[in-house]
Amino acid sequence: MTGVRALGAFSGGLDGMLASKVLQDQGICVEAITFDSPFFDVQAGKSAAEVLNIPWRAVDFTEDIVNLLFDPPSGFGKNMNPCIDCHATMFKRLKEIALKEGFDFIFSGEVVGQRPMSQNRGSLNRVKNISHTGDILLRPLSAKILDPTPMEEAGLVNRDRLLDLNGRGRTRQLKMAREYGFSRIPSPGGGCLLTDPGYANRLRSLRDSDLLSGDNARMIRFGRMFMLDEAVGLVGRSAEENHKMLEAAIGMGIGIQLDIQDVPGPLGILVGRKTENNLTLLTAIMASYTKAEEQVTALSHQNETYTAERMNIAERDKYIVTL
Ligand code: SF4
Repeated sequence: MTGVRALGAFSGGLDGMLASKVLQDQGICVEAITFDSPFFDVQAGKSAAEVLNIPWRAVDFTEDIVNLLFDPPSGFGKNMNPCIDCHATMFKRLKEIALKEGFDFIFSGEVVGQRPMSQNRGSLNRVKNISHTGDILLRPLSAKILDPTPMEEAGLVNRDRLLDLNGRGRTRQLKMAREYGFSRIPSPGGGCLLTDPGYANRLRSLRDSDLLSGDNARMIRFGRMFMLDEAVGLVGRSAEENHKMLEAAIGMGIGIQLDIQDVPGPLGILVGRKTENNLTLLTAIMASYTKAEEQVTALSHQNETYTAERMNIAERDKYIVTL
């Protein structure tokens, strides 16, 4: 080992794993961080680090990414994904940690041209510039087709042993993964809910109603979603989903849980402004998914009751946020 230490941003994809290996091949000691938020989880990063047998940790990124969803300086991708600013903020955080803990540089598995918008040469430069990481960021997989970094110039990293990957193809990456003998090769792509059109639609409604927070963003992953008055109503679609919704709401300590009495029906959760009107409206929406012929009563977890007629479908559709 050379004694040089590098800290990588690790989403759990194959490219991050290969970037780590390329550095390890020249004796650099590698550790990885996976950022955690309501929109992407850390499991893939953890598994990838296990395959490589390198030190790994999760870092909470919720506040950073939620703040970016209001007005990202570099704009959104196709949906609610502020990829350029998200990457830049991750690298900024990574740099802070690296400097504090005495790492020599940070790295990522980015490949020039791999994603048309967020990983073309211009975007990579923009991310580097706005994150102020030009002095410390290395992209080992495409380093040979990028300008030399201070780490290469100072001899901390041997540029000759870095790669020149370019474009969307994965042939070389898969060949390398086989040669390295990875026990598991992650499939390409996503996992980020911000790129999902249905979820993005929900999130936009949340943001535009001043209800956007990390916890609320987690809650709207469940159920059917209805926009009420400065509140969101969530209604479970199955017994399994009712259970998951309940677990999430209790775990985060948010929302008013409503349970229909006397007839089988879905669980409802009100997130946001707690008013008699919103809770009665949510009861009526929940009732529309039951076979009740008369008024239904819902009991809240705070032991309050709300009574409403079944809402008809046309009326209900006025409140629903489509997926
Ligand atoms: S896909 Fe999601 S996690 Fe990845 S850079 Fe874009 S916003 Fe960030």
